[in-house]
Amino acid sequence: MDDSLAGTWFCRRQGFSLPLPVMNKVAVTTRFAPSPTGHTHLGNLRTALFNALLALAAGGEFLLRSEDTDRDRSAEKYLDAMCDDLRWLGLDWDLGPGMEDPAGERGPFRQSERQAIYQAWFDKLSEQRLAYPCFCSRQDLERSRKAQQRAGRAPRYAGTCRELSEQEIKERLLDDQRPTLRYRVADEGFVEFSDLAKGPQRFELADIGDFIVRRSDGTPAFFFSNALDDSLMGVTHVLRGEDHLANTPRQIVLLRSLGLEVPVYGHLSLIVGDDGKPLSKRHGTGSLKDLRELGYLPLALNNHLFRLGHASDSGDLMTLDEMTGHFDCAHLGRAPARHDPVQLDHWQKLAVMKLSDEEIKTWLGADADGGYLGGMVPADQEQDFIGLVRDNLQRPSQAVAWAKILFADEPISGEMISAGLSHIEAGFFEDAAGLWSKGHSSFRDFSGQLSEKTKHKGKKLFMPLRVALTGELHGPELEKIAALMGKDRVERRFLEAAERC
Ligand code: GLU
Repeated sequence: MDDSLAGTWFCRRQGFSLPLPVMNKVAVTTRFAPSPTGHTHLGNLRTALFNALLALAAGGEFLLRSEDTDRDRSAEKYLDAMCDDLRWLGLDWDLGPGMEDPAGERGPFRQSERQAIYQAWFDKLSEQRLAYPCFCSRQDLERSRKAQQRAGRAPRYAGTCRELSEQEIKERLLDDQRPTLRYRVADEGFVEFSDLAKGPQRFELADIGDFIVRRSDGTPAFFFSNALDDSLMGVTHVLRGEDHLANTPRQIVLLRSLGLEVPVYGHLSLIVGDDGKPLSKRHGTGSLKDLRELGYLPLALNNHLFRLGHASDSGDLMTLDEMTGHFDCAHLGRAPARHDPVQLDHWQKLAVMKLSDEEIKTWLGADADGGYLGGMVPADQEQDFIGLVRDNLQRPSQAVAWAKILFADEPISGEMISAGLSHIEAGFFEDAAGLWSKGHSSFRDFSGQLSEKTKHKGKKLFMPLRVALTGELHGPELEKIAALMGKDRVERRFLEAAERC
């Protein structure tokens, strides 16, 4: 049976005909539907990026919906921060919280403002006996769950309140008991659908069990408001984390029984850290807020996210527009997507290289109160400094380290020098200091003289000089480094190195 027929079968069995939602005017509508309960993390952002690209690629619409039904945990400040993060990444939405749908039919886009809509659908579910009030307490449910587990069965709702009479329901309501509303799932049958990332899926209805659509405080449960809103908002494609895969059959069954359109789903593989465990703070990658504070650029993050669980056919750094042409659901992976910070740094390096000198200055905060550089770089050397270090930077803090190396009078760490120069005799640096102080026409002239005198060549000549001057094994051209450091500082560094050898 193909997936569309599975749904049809289910509807026929339940036999409902309810008004269909507004039909979509564009072929593809996607959405990002975060719960604003914390700062945005890489998983959220990847979901947002893929949905935005899918819509862009099809000339469709990208919606933003705030799933803020959990009033205790949701906060407007988190929604604001998420909006700010999305804009920063260049992921603009066509409709979202605070915006009016020009057709006036799909908003509002905060679930907390949609209670009246939900209530109308709860009423329909009840009238059609598709859902029933459930008075089971948490303890009742827990007892039943344990009993089923003891009997070796997968836990599902035991059906205690399924067949309560009108009279019983009335009495319990009079007794001030506040029921949940539970959706009645058929005992037999199955749901099949084709997942955009995971391929064909099949779930037996008997394994699902009746599920809650309205909590006892009247607020909608996730399964319900999430699916209903997708359909009412004309969402055609849902890309979301694979942790939602098991929710999808419930949502399909629910929508079909209400005669509502069902979107196409794609479940994105989990993002894991180096240890194969789900990505979390432990892996040193917290929220986007943290990454922004470290100086990561939107271009780098987008390129990194683009390749998390999506095999790119291009190894180039791409703009969002370029990515649109390369995004393909057929390239969504099934295996966990490994977040490798080295990979993020790779894109960051390329993204920094794309910045103009002016942009680098802004990125370094050099325009505001000395910014990251804290006034360490003399104004007349700022341009040369940026030109020198720009291709060696991944984070603004590294520019600070270079500024210290080049302009501060702190000696290079003894440890670095010992590690880099263990095989070098003190005489080498005494010769270097002597030749340097005598003067020369260029750095090349100086190094030529030093080579003649010490018989060191190539790496054996340049590596000790680099370590003595910068404490680093890699970095910009030595000639330029020496020019920015100034004659005296270079000589002092050679003498310091001589003392340590
Ligand atoms: N609010 C849900 C979440 O943040 C949305 C899931 C979905 O995209 O359907 O996990």
